[in-house]
Amino acid sequence: MSFSSFGLNPLLLQAIEEKGYSQPTPIQQEAIPAILNQQDVMAGAQTGTGKTAAFALPILQQLAVSDSANASVQALVLTPTRELALQVGKSFQQYGMHMPLRTVVAYGGVSINNQLSEIAKGVDVLVATPGRLIDLVMREAIDLSSLSFFVLDEADRMLDMGFIDDIKRILRSVPATRQTLLFSATFDDAIFKLSQKLLSNPTLIEVDQRNATASQVEQIAYEVDKHRKREITSFLIGSKNWQQVLIFTRTKKSADDLAKEMCKDGLKTEAIHGDKSQGARERALEGFKNGTIRVLVATDVASRGLDIQQLKYVINYELPHNAEDYIHRIGRTGRAGETGLALTLLSADETWLLDEIHKITDTRLMQQWLPGYEPNLDQNFVQKNKKAGGGRTNNRGRSRRR
Ligand code: AMP
Repeated sequence: MSFSSFGLNPLLLQAIEEKGYSQPTPIQQEAIPAILNQQDVMAGAQTGTGKTAAFALPILQQLAVSDSANASVQALVLTPTRELALQVGKSFQQYGMHMPLRTVVAYGGVSINNQLSEIAKGVDVLVATPGRLIDLVMREAIDLSSLSFFVLDEADRMLDMGFIDDIKRILRSVPATRQTLLFSATFDDAIFKLSQKLLSNPTLIEVDQRNATASQVEQIAYEVDKHRKREITSFLIGSKNWQQVLIFTRTKKSADDLAKEMCKDGLKTEAIHGDKSQGARERALEGFKNGTIRVLVATDVASRGLDIQQLKYVINYELPHNAEDYIHRIGRTGRAGETGLALTLLSADETWLLDEIHKITDTRLMQQWLPGYEPNLDQNFVQKNKKAGGGRTNNRGRSRRR
């Protein structure tokens, strides 16, 4: 299947070609025709599947042929985080670069003035985080009354972050007659409830198994004593010569502490989390993308929306409390068909978190020891694994004999 089979505008096809996409990804194959057919869509697709183009291309196509006077926002994309807003906004700008359409991105944590002046120049597509959008609506800086497209991106994350009331509030400002698209990596009752409020007779699209982890990603879990995690991390990155490594921690403090320690180990590292200014986060991300920073340590919230081409290595330095975050974390690698490695460093107190992950992904991660880093608290692991009915399946015997 090719992009031209969707009957897309030649200006869009030109941009797609310039991006180097040769064929649509599975989510694009299903979503693009449904959206062009003006249906509401509820799609299960995690980051990395090409979901942004799956909604951006058919929206741009319809905006290109619409006869709107273009006085107000025609498409609104809500995202949970600023990073994702920037990423999605950039995608709209790139796919629509040969079209006379304007995309503006608005998010909190920075002065509103620049965003106000961008909006004053005219907006066709607005990509925004909920809080800043409400601020703009209250100031009457934007008019959503002639909106034709409303997209909720990463809806599961939006609910996790407590945006439900904001979403309800925003809904009061958008017209009842509109096309609504909901994208979510995971589904649960809360998402279905939200979808009933938002969508009208939606087409349900699922390209991945529900709550599935990215299939191209090899997943490994090393059991290791907590106090040796930093050491094993530096050892693996150094000895295997990994160049672009994204590490997840549970808290801002561990992100900062780890980044400091990794720098002492001679690995150029930066941390990003909610307490860092937007400028600092963007600089760190840019450095990570262009290779001047080798290791980026992030909390879950800060990592949403990160799109790093060909990121090969993700390390779960600490497992998340919310098992679904594991899926999002490892979805940072193995994007758009690339392969990746997701390594989990598992200390004895975290085995219950791994059990939660096993439950929602319906797979079992191989638990291994890395020779030289065998945990001392073996008893702890054995007892916990017995209780959970699971166990390690490889490497253990070999490690023990050493
Ligand atoms: P997304 O899931 O939207 O965050 O996209 C993940 C990555 O896939 C981005 O870097 C996109 O540029 C890339 N991508 C999207 N669609 C395609 C395609 N059809 N072929 C190759 N890469 C793509």
